[in-house]
Amino acid sequence: MSNVTEIYGSLVFNDHVMKERLPKETYKKLSKTIKNGDALDVDVANVVAHAMKEWAIENGATHFTHWFQPLSGITSEKHDSFLNPTGDGTAIMTFSGKELIQGEPDASSFPNGGLRATFEARGYTAWDPTSYAFIKDEVLCIPTAFCSYTGEALDKKTPLLRSMKAIDQQAQRVLEYFGEGGHRVITTVGAEQEYFLISEKDYEQRQDLIMTGRTLFGAPPSKGQELEEHYFGVIRPTVNEFMKEVDDDLWALGVSAKTKHNEVAPAQHELAPLFTNSNRAIDENLLTMEKMKLDASHHGLVCLQHEKPFEGVNGSGKHNNWSLSYGSTNLLDPGDNPIENLRFLVFLSCVVESVDEYQELLRMSVASAGNDHRLGANEAPPAIISIFLGDELGAIVESLINNEDYKSAAAVAMDLGVDVLPQFLKDNTDRNRTSPFAFTGNKFEFRMPGSQVNLSDANTILNTAMAKSLKGFADAMEGVSAEDFEAKAIAYIKKTFTDHQRIIFNGNGYAGDWEVEAEKRGLANNRNTAEALPCLVAQKSIDLFAEFGVLTEPEVRSRYEVKLEKYNKLLNIEARVMIRMARRTYLPAIADYAADVASNITTIKSALPNSDLAAHEALLGHLTSGIESAAAATAELVKIHDAAEAIEDGQEQAYAYANEVIPAMDALRAIIDDLELYTERNYWPVPTYNDMLFYC
Ligand code: ADP
Ligand code: MG
Repeated sequence: MSNVTEIYGSLVFNDHVMKERLPKETYKKLSKTIKNGDALDVDVANVVAHAMKEWAIENGATHFTHWFQPLSGITSEKHDSFLNPTGDGTAIMTFSGKELIQGEPDASSFPNGGLRATFEARGYTAWDPTSYAFIKDEVLCIPTAFCSYTGEALDKKTPLLRSMKAIDQQAQRVLEYFGEGGHRVITTVGAEQEYFLISEKDYEQRQDLIMTGRTLFGAPPSKGQELEEHYFGVIRPTVNEFMKEVDDDLWALGVSAKTKHNEVAPAQHELAPLFTNSNRAIDENLLTMEKMKLDASHHGLVCLQHEKPFEGVNGSGKHNNWSLSYGSTNLLDPGDNPIENLRFLVFLSCVVESVDEYQELLRMSVASAGNDHRLGANEAPPAIISIFLGDELGAIVESLINNEDYKSAAAVAMDLGVDVLPQFLKDNTDRNRTSPFAFTGNKFEFRMPGSQVNLSDANTILNTAMAKSLKGFADAMEGVSAEDFEAKAIAYIKKTFTDHQRIIFNGNGYAGDWEVEAEKRGLANNRNTAEALPCLVAQKSIDLFAEFGVLTEPEVRSRYEVKLEKYNKLLNIEARVMIRMARRTYLPAIADYAADVASNITTIKSALPNSDLAAHEALLGHLTSGIESAAAATAELVKIHDAAEAIEDGQEQAYAYANEVIPAMDALRAIIDDLELYTERNYWPVPTYNDMLFYC
């Protein structure tokens, strides 16, 4: 068993290490930068770099890297050694302040959406001192932002940091009115990560998993998740060993991995860390995903992080728990008596307003080819954004809107009817698992993000939209006298809740009639990525990002291009893999089996001319007609895919993939999946859902 307190944070250049190793003055200046976002000078950087290098070498590091998040969403690194030959055949290890602060990777091979012409291939990475440096596989990793030669952001982190600054500024203005000004407000995130684990042996035999991360074919397993036995079930030993290794690795990296359990679908699991500031939380989530993939290979397993690796059982999400706070004060904590808590109600009304106003942008932030299989299916929230407030807050908001008195429902004691069991107070609000954006006691849980996504986009949008609402309130209160403030603030909140009431929905988000009701309310319902993306470049979005200095118009447009391109490319790959698998893997195998059935018929007939061969013949008929239909569906997919591939306009192409190619893929899959259930097991050329989901 590992000594958790000993290994926790042992590979992180955290506050504790800084305090220990940096001269007092340097530590003070760096702390100010980290806490208040003050600029950092080169002298300080030189001292920090030296201390970092000494510490890293003592902990086994030989290289350093600027660790960044280009627009692909995954992390990038290029390792440089500390080695510096002295000229006399020996070498010393060096690392300067300049090397710490700034790097110059060739940016031409990262997605940029047309932002940077190849003749200006230079890009810069810049140290983000607000996220700690750490050691991973003997490399000192320095979290950095990534921008073009002309200063445009080419990464996910820069706009996130800008949005955190925007929300801080506006929240501080609001807090001034409550006599709580002058504190830095940060946003916090806790990201719950779902994933699947399957055996490496099965994975290696599935081209679809290797190339696309999901199964493009596969008949449903004999049992799925209907027995509800996997969720919170006993964790099987191989998986447990894997989870322990991941925990150890994450703890060493200072990631507070807290909860682990089996999820609803067979072979599906979840890891949740403790929340921290959004910027670090996202870095930690990316590290978690990386460690999971790597550690799985030590146990003969593969970690699937695709949103929908298997049809017919639940897909994987990444719940984004979000709040804002200063010091130890959580601004979304309603306290014991929310109706009396004006500050809380102001922040709550701003959340409601911002989510309603920018619902399409939020939905856009989680749009991807993978997540399209999840949203709207009966397992994940629908593609429509709504807010769940629960009984108590719901009643408070309603009473405010209707000018009625609110009577607090007293906390009810839970009586289980068994004297030896402790009595406890029931929560005022039951959980609602079907809402895309649910209030969960002292934070909101955004449940739409898919398991693979980099959460920066969602949080950038959430923070910026919230900054705008807070600004609206702060602007409206300007010049209001102290005596009038309370009445004016309450009137403002009432109006905000009234104007944005449509976004609040406490019912069942999975029910079919919600879609009808949502449409009546005028809520957006962008069903897939092709429909969701255009909102990013709508004037309203461009204006929002510009107002708070989060993204310039060219930056917004480039992001749209990158997202569009990624969607089209992924679907292009999926179609290609499908065509290849149909022709080279499935059709020959089914034909082999059909030929054997046919020769059996001939053999039996010659041995016993009068035997009844109706079942044999029916099977052969089904197999041969199935082969014909599968071949025809493949040819049709080729035709439709070629036509889609030829479309020049990215948005038009995305619509073609969503509306034409995907249905053609579904049609082909249905035929092959049906044939799987008629083909003898030994002829089937790949591991089945039964094999992959129920291993030992
Ligand atoms: P669930 O019931 O959905 O599994 P939990 O209550 O266990 O949720 O918390 C889920 C996540 O929410 C954890 O990562 C936790 O750290 C995070 N969380 C708790 N409080 C906050 C907060 N104030 N801000 C952001 N995340 C939070
Ligand atoms: Mg959750």
